[in-house]
Amino acid sequence: MDRLQEYLKKERAQEWRAELRGTLKAKDRTNMERLSMPEEDPAVRSTNYVEVNTGLSEEQAIHEARRCIDCPDPTCITGCPVGINIPKFIKKIETGDFLDAAVVLKETNALPAVCGRVCPQEVQCEQACFYTQKLGKPPVAIGNLERFAADYEQNSGKLSIPVIADRNGIKVASIGSGPSGLAFAGDMVKMGYDVTVYEALHEIGGVLKYGIPEFRLPNEIVDVEIDILKKMGVKFITNFIVGKTASIKDLEGEGFASFFIGSGAGLPSFMNIPGENYIGIYSSNEYLTRVNLMNAADPDYDTPVISGKKVAVIGGGNTAMDSVRTAKRLGAERAMIIYRRSIEEMPARVEEIKHAKEEGIEFMNLNNPLEYFADENGRVCRMKLQKMELGEPDDSGRRRPMPIKGSEYEIEVDTVVVSVGVSPNPLIPQSLPDLNISSWGTIKVNKENMQSSIPNLFAGGDIVRGGATVILAMGDGRAAAASMDKYIKQKIRAILPLVKEFKSIGEILEFAGK
Ligand SMILES: Cc1cc2nc3c(=O)[nH]c(=O)nc-3n(C[C@H](O)[C@H](O)[C@H](O)COP(=O)(O)OP(=O)(O)OC[C@H]3O[C@@H](n4cnc5c(N)ncnc54)[C@H](O)[C@@H]3O)c2cc1C
Ligand code: SF4
Repeated sequence: MDRLQEYLKKERAQEWRAELRGTLKAKDRTNMERLSMPEEDPAVRSTNYVEVNTGLSEEQAIHEARRCIDCPDPTCITGCPVGINIPKFIKKIETGDFLDAAVVLKETNALPAVCGRVCPQEVQCEQACFYTQKLGKPPVAIGNLERFAADYEQNSGKLSIPVIADRNGIKVASIGSGPSGLAFAGDMVKMGYDVTVYEALHEIGGVLKYGIPEFRLPNEIVDVEIDILKKMGVKFITNFIVGKTASIKDLEGEGFASFFIGSGAGLPSFMNIPGENYIGIYSSNEYLTRVNLMNAADPDYDTPVISGKKVAVIGGGNTAMDSVRTAKRLGAERAMIIYRRSIEEMPARVEEIKHAKEEGIEFMNLNNPLEYFADENGRVCRMKLQKMELGEPDDSGRRRPMPIKGSEYEIEVDTVVVSVGVSPNPLIPQSLPDLNISSWGTIKVNKENMQSSIPNLFAGGDIVRGGATVILAMGDGRAAAASMDKYIKQKIRAILPLVKEFKSIGEILEFAGK
């Protein structure tokens, strides 16, 4: 039995857990209905930015927590990239110890209120839950419960600050303040390091702030979790572009021993079809950033509003779904998703597709854009589409979309948002010639420890994966923190016999050649 299993077994054997299991038979627990998350009325919410999911009440959360049978082999944990002790936090909810439930979450997850909202639980912990795997029943609503506990703690004003080891004075930095950088910073500061996070933008949070809209993830929820990191001692420096404002070499000169690169994949891709440069055609990054970070939807701000009436969003992922639902909220009469595959193959979360449909988004699946046309002012006014059909499965395992000859047709549009993918931000890789990068521009790392070809540089999140999920980025940040700690300690151990000669840890690290 490995250490984790041993630890989980010991935790499960605790008296309070054993007693709680005895209060209701497993059979009765598994016969209980899964509760749905309450939501705002689609007709109202599609005209404002209020969060769509309204959260479980205390009674609903306890009901849902009782469904969990506290399995001896909790498979749900294997589906969680940051290894949350899922049954423990759920059982804390069942006993009504909501604040303790939040403490359990924060042992391994620096952003539980965020993850409870945006993680694709249906393909992670909930997919691995005993209910899904063995009973063929709807899984325990782990994500909804995570959100409940994290929100309860935020609303209580009694925020717990995770325990931090004694300061060791060793300076480390994260480049980028997205979920990978935040998770990295949280773990390093807990281990006693002096952590600084450098962020190019004026806001901390990466895609959590500039990408995912308020109606899915309110910025103030993200800010509360960032504030906890600040209270733990993490320093944040915004409007600082590493590679431009200062290089990694400059920062090493300031005494930083090691770096985590979590600079994301913010470079938008286009389809390179005729007319894509016309006015009114945006990348989803620009479109969402204007609204989310630059308040374009607020009349008190002078960021131009892109309130098209006939808006086509090209793509089928979360970004496309966020863009089209934003278009609807900005007043579009037709807000359309144009995607070359069928609805079943869309990579967006199932919940987002459901919400979008409820809000009146038109789904034009099996359609592919071929060309855009502009009016006399150079503004897009029409687009040509081609119908598609599904052929044999391709490398991704999904059925390949094939054009249907002679099926071309045109529709009127006044705004187009292209959301067909992103690639890694190139600045950091370009500024470090010794860094191994892939042909996609992602940083190559040793998957075991997230170390790059430059020994004191670790990397994770979208800059390594090329576009993934919040929780995978966080998992990478945590893995990199554990490896960086080992790496630094090994360096120090190697020169320990000489340590008397040095006046500071900075001098030791300099001698060790980082
Ligand atoms: C619109 C949208 C919706 C999404 N929805 C979901 C969802 O529902 N669920 C989900 O799990 N995932 C979702 N994702 C994906 C998820 O947000 C990303 O996988 C995740 O944010 C990646 O985290 P990261 O830390 O690697 O990078 P990012 O979040 O991209 O953060 C990188 C940060 O680094 C900064 N940076 C870049 N270069 C530098 C530099 N040189 N110096 C200093 N700072 C720098 C950037 O400004 C940015 O703030 C969505 C993505 C988008 C765009
Ligand atoms: S697998 Fe499902 S039922 Fe079992 S402990 Fe995890 S959440 Fe509870």
